[in-house]
Amino acid sequence: MTKGSTYYDVWDLDVFFSGGSSSQAFINHIHSSKEDVERFRSRVTDWQPSNKITDQEQIAEIVEFFQRVAKEIRQAGAFVSCLHAQNTNDKKVSGLRGQVTELSASLQNALTVFDQKLTTYDDQIWEELLQVEALHQLQFVLNERRINALERLSQEEETIINALSIDGYHGWGQLYDTIVGTIKVPFKEGNETKELSVGQAANKFSHPDHVVRKSIFEGWEESWSEKAEYLSKTLNHLAGFRLNTYKLRGWEDVLKEPLQINRMQKKTLDTMWQVISDAKAPFVTFLERKAKLLGKDRLSWYDLDAPIGQVESKVSYEEGAEFIIEHFSRFGKEMTGFAKKAFEQKWIEAEDRPGKAPGGFHTFFPESNQSRIFMTFSGTPSNVSTLAHELGHGFHTYAMRDQHYLNRNYAMNVAETASTFAEMIVADASVKQAKNPEEKLALLEDKIQRSVALLMNIHARFLFETRFYEERKNGVVGTDRLNQLMKEAQEEAYGGALAEYHPLFWASKLHFFITGVPFYNFPYTFGYLFSLGIYAKALEEGEGYEEKYIALLKDTASMTVEELAWKHLNVDLTKPDFWEKAVQQCIADVEEFLSLT
Ligand SMILES: [Zn+2]
Repeated sequence: MTKGSTYYDVWDLDVFFSGGSSSQAFINHIHSSKEDVERFRSRVTDWQPSNKITDQEQIAEIVEFFQRVAKEIRQAGAFVSCLHAQNTNDKKVSGLRGQVTELSASLQNALTVFDQKLTTYDDQIWEELLQVEALHQLQFVLNERRINALERLSQEEETIINALSIDGYHGWGQLYDTIVGTIKVPFKEGNETKELSVGQAANKFSHPDHVVRKSIFEGWEESWSEKAEYLSKTLNHLAGFRLNTYKLRGWEDVLKEPLQINRMQKKTLDTMWQVISDAKAPFVTFLERKAKLLGKDRLSWYDLDAPIGQVESKVSYEEGAEFIIEHFSRFGKEMTGFAKKAFEQKWIEAEDRPGKAPGGFHTFFPESNQSRIFMTFSGTPSNVSTLAHELGHGFHTYAMRDQHYLNRNYAMNVAETASTFAEMIVADASVKQAKNPEEKLALLEDKIQRSVALLMNIHARFLFETRFYEERKNGVVGTDRLNQLMKEAQEEAYGGALAEYHPLFWASKLHFFITGVPFYNFPYTFGYLFSLGIYAKALEEGEGYEEKYIALLKDTASMTVEELAWKHLNVDLTKPDFWEKAVQQCIADVEEFLSLT
């Protein structure tokens, strides 16, 4: 506990299950969840849909059961993530985590059976069913489940694909991690050459000394190129499996699945990238100016994260908390109230002590309707942003608290809406209140770096990945060609601003090898700009906007993004206007930066 204040920096988990990883209450919870999943599975398996409107009661009853089991498992999952994060040396946690993973897998299997049964209804009966009161509010999610099942192969075939994907698909993703684990990056420090892990080496790219960055980049390229043949095989096989699965299902466009997951149209995605492509010039100017400030003609890939100034001032946890609350309060009472509650009721774990996991996250305990936030607060401005970011996630779940549980499962592209919004409030306030010009510049650059990452770096990833998958349809794409595709994508995405690129980025970036979700890139950019668009509205409308903001957040998991934007922002996401306004905000930061330097 932080002395003499109500801003606790150690969370309370006992309120859920007392006794940490030895909790008997938690063991009991796992047991009863197991029984419930099993009961749910039999209920779904025994169910005989009759293609009649009278099935409504049965469907409603199964859905309620589903909601209850899903909440139970989520409650357990949230608890084990918190246990792991607060003490990574706690040996008992991994056993518990394994049990929760098993529970989720069993639930997923039962749901596959349920979804298939939804496809047995004729379209017209189905439409009628969705109109009945008990199911009406779940119209979108139930329809989505049914369509997803309809567009897949039969249950037997999909089961075979799932079984084969363990070794034939996910296995490649795991092999990537194994290869990366063996990579050592040579780094010369004085007369000594050290061998750094990939993670340690990556941190050096933000080193203030050009010589250090250049040296680490040379070692970096060399290390990745040594493993490039293995990595290109891995990537090709992983992509081959995915493409073959799509082919069997009759899906032609490689973007079909990621767009479906993110509940958005192709046209929206195309428009977003088009607006970004047309707005590269100011960011190119920014990169040129940054090069000058670093004493170079043009930046290299390894200079992108180089700091141009330093922020010296440290803040205490209480100061950080008060800063957040003060600035949230300009946007509305609910958000402020939520943040206060999180600080006062021990919802946040921020203490700086050994043994904690790196990074930050927010998680939610649905059975208790409470959030928990994890991070390590060491007093930097970026810690304050992280705290605001995670509180934003918390506020999102808080805004949705009265929604049906099945209507709370938002996709990745809108998942960062509330967090980015909260972070923006704090980032803007920090820039305005900077103690001196250097600090102001450093904070502003930090903001612009995010725009560069989302509008240039992620754009390169997207361009590369779409082009690679197109070529992969015709056969294996060799290492040299991968390098070439990547270099071209980077030149295009960075508007030719850099002197040197990173052709092996396809190898060094984990995201291309993630098998859980395809195309782990454009949802980030979407989320960022979507949030900026909402933030701009909030700035225009002031405190009164909060009610509308909450209404928007509530709907984030029960309609497409186009419908969401139309209903709450009155904009058409397939048209450039909204995106242009959002990008304009990023450009305004660049303009301020240019005038300050
Ligand atoms: Zn986040």
